[in-house]
Amino acid sequence: MAIRAEYMWIDGTEPTPNIRSKTKVIDKGTSLKDLPIWGFDGSSTNQAPGKASDCVLRPVAVFPDPIRGGDDVLVMSEVLLTDMTPHKTNTRAALVEAAAKFADQEPLFGIEQEYTLFKGGRPLGFPESGGFPRPQGPYYCGVGADEIFGRPVVESHLDACLRAGISLSGINAEVMPGQWEFQVGPLSPLDVSDQMWVARWLLHRIGEDYGVSATLDPKPVRGDWNGAGAHTNFSTKAMRENYDAIITAAEALGKNAELHVANYGHGIEGRLTGAHETAPYDQFSYGVSDRGASVRIPWQVEQDQKGYIEDRRPNANCDPYTVTRLIVETCCSALA
Ligand code: ADP
Ligand code: MN
Ligand code: MN
Ligand code: MN
Repeated sequence: MAIRAEYMWIDGTEPTPNIRSKTKVIDKGTSLKDLPIWGFDGSSTNQAPGKASDCVLRPVAVFPDPIRGGDDVLVMSEVLLTDMTPHKTNTRAALVEAAAKFADQEPLFGIEQEYTLFKGGRPLGFPESGGFPRPQGPYYCGVGADEIFGRPVVESHLDACLRAGISLSGINAEVMPGQWEFQVGPLSPLDVSDQMWVARWLLHRIGEDYGVSATLDPKPVRGDWNGAGAHTNFSTKAMRENYDAIITAAEALGKNAELHVANYGHGIEGRLTGAHETAPYDQFSYGVSDRGASVRIPWQVEQDQKGYIEDRRPNANCDPYTVTRLIVETCCSALA
């Protein structure tokens, strides 16, 4: 019987790429090895000139489609040139290499994706008549119609992710009205990144049904309102066993701070200001329990003398393929 496979890929939009998708009707099996290579018009996605517009889609991960249901699938894909080498927008290819090089260290990631729900040009919970809601304070993990905006969208997204087999570890309402978070992981670098992109696609797709758009803008409202990040929690086997490795990893991130911040998402200077639970983008720091540091060591980790660290710098609009690659390269090199 014919099934629908929704192929998704990351486009060439600058400065921040978007996820795109289109449907292929297929009548063969739907395991990764059965799914055919496909293509798209790269001249419509800022990935190719019109005269040589074909780009190749190669499936890299497949999930049950929780929206269409049945045997239909979601297919995360990578973009190749027609000679089957990685397209320059294919940031996954470099992660494949880094993950293979340091696989013996067994790196794991849990990423906290913050986002903001918008309708009619303003975040949910911001008055339609203009102006601002009550200042931040009661919204984070709140309950009740005066504090929580968009819960049906969020619950529907949670449900869809779980039915797709995505390893969500939780959700919560955030500090600004209309702002939410979901966490993916802990998983390997490639799995967390593939699943994060699919979870983002599901968020945008479910938003359509509610007439609400989700933005990953790192600073959706100027002024005294929290930005949106993608705190990236990281460990290796050694870090899960001893505290020296935790410190080595945190120190290594400090030595490579500029490179990391430059690749943690467009507009990071506007978010990492030193206010709103951030450290300034141009000053590196780490500390136990410190939500004003670049890198936080959770108190439980100090207590247990092992565990993981939280890199608080990545923006909500970061590319998880790039963020996890940089963290693996920096920390695993230092720990090798
Ligand atoms: P926060 O207190 O910063 O809001 P969250 O509960 O939102 O923390 O997120 C913590 C994340 O850390 C989760 O995604 C979880 O999967 C991840 N995590 C837990 N243990 C590890 C580990 N050993 N290595 C990597 N990530 C981990
Ligand atoms: Mn969190
Ligand atoms: Mn958060
Ligand atoms: Mn966090």
